[in-house]
Amino acid sequence: MKYCSTRGKIQDLSFSEAVMMGLASDGGLLLPQKIPQISRQQLKALSKMNYVDLAYEIISLYATDLPAADLRSLVNRSYASFDHSDITPVVKKGDIYILELFHGPTLAFKDVALQFLGNLFEYYLVRDNKKLNIIGATSGDTGSAAIAGVRGKKNINIFILFPFGRVSSVQEMQMTTVADANVFNIAIDGTFDDAQAIVKEIFSDQAFKQAHALGSINSINWVRVLAQIVYYFYAYFRVNEQTGCEEVQFSVPTGNFGDIFAGYLAGKMGLPTRRFILATNANNILSRFVNGGDYSLADVHHSLSPSMDIQVASNFERYLYYLYDGDTAAVVAAMERFKKTGKLIFSAEQLTHIQKDFVAASINDQQTLDQISTFSKQTGYLLDPHTAVGVRAVDEVGDDVPHICLATAHPAKFPETIDKAVTDKLPPVEAIEKLSSMRRRCERMTADLQKIKSYIAEKSL
Ligand SMILES: *Cc1c(COP(=O)(O)O)cnc(C)c1O
Repeated sequence: MKYCSTRGKIQDLSFSEAVMMGLASDGGLLLPQKIPQISRQQLKALSKMNYVDLAYEIISLYATDLPAADLRSLVNRSYASFDHSDITPVVKKGDIYILELFHGPTLAFKDVALQFLGNLFEYYLVRDNKKLNIIGATSGDTGSAAIAGVRGKKNINIFILFPFGRVSSVQEMQMTTVADANVFNIAIDGTFDDAQAIVKEIFSDQAFKQAHALGSINSINWVRVLAQIVYYFYAYFRVNEQTGCEEVQFSVPTGNFGDIFAGYLAGKMGLPTRRFILATNANNILSRFVNGGDYSLADVHHSLSPSMDIQVASNFERYLYYLYDGDTAAVVAAMERFKKTGKLIFSAEQLTHIQKDFVAASINDQQTLDQISTFSKQTGYLLDPHTAVGVRAVDEVGDDVPHICLATAHPAKFPETIDKAVTDKLPPVEAIEKLSSMRRRCERMTADLQKIKSYIAEKSL
């Protein structure tokens, strides 16, 4: 399997080159040059596998230059950190199937990909005798999942900047209680935007970047999409077993278009799915795109599902590549136009194509709270606010087939919102309880670019 960029200037990369490149060096995103097709026969064989075996099979179709025994061991280790033997269990609540993606170390779906990516980075860095210093800014979920992915790994240090006092207490504990010597938390005095601006500045200094082998964590690494393809297959098989239905529909709460794009690829590989339900909160650029062919920037609203408070969806360009039928010049032109005008408009013909792939709904905060509350009354099950957006979207735009909604976080990560929606107390969660007595480690710094750069220079590998 070879990889190419959506912008056409990079081609024929191996899997390992694609993993280590992250963002394509022509500014585009990396994609497999062909999508492997799974026959009915193969589907049948895959349907009997446990999660880890299934992950191995799916990933091996794409990671063709990785020795089989090494991939086995990487996959085994990546999912050993999950607290459920099914890794991503599917539970039926009311009429809907909930795909629980929150059984990893930080209780959110990003663990599914970042546990694997951390192991893969270490594997290639050790093999090639290289070092990597990961720098990132976070408003919460990504930072904690990235730290959990690379803690204690050889040849990697990680530096995470977050705004002091402005990430949730659970998220802060998940980051700062990690005792491994390769983890550096930097709490800056300022906002998330200040933290992100500093990281951007650091990366724009090419000499500094080279000298300290800097790399980033973000949702654009191909491996993050790849690892997420697996659970669409896994969930389909569980629901197919229970209902005998040949076709299902997934509802995906999304912001960066990453998770839903993985589902779209699973469909392209041959998984029998109806068009995907794309569920956004009030930050609705993606649902406007699906419903009206209008992909235009608006201000970011702070919502009750903060991990989806995103306007520019970083994985969107990957879908554009398929929408334009692999025409990389058209992708480049569209991305340039978007950069200049903050807006893309699609033709009626393109809209028909888009609406064959997706149907969308935008769910506001009040609807989110109502959904958590009614669902809890009807089923006794607590939805986290992101999952609630996805479940609500099924009510609004779902088809007449079994529905699987992706549960992207554990409700205990958002206790304030759960308290607003229901009167019952959240049951204590051991993984969180045990953090509160642990020692915290964090460097508090002013939002001063030079000071932060010297700190990184001093502590980097
Ligand atoms: C990151 C995140 C999302 C959005 O993920 P996408 O890849 O943009 O679809 C949704 N829910 C939670 C809890 C998240 O952490």
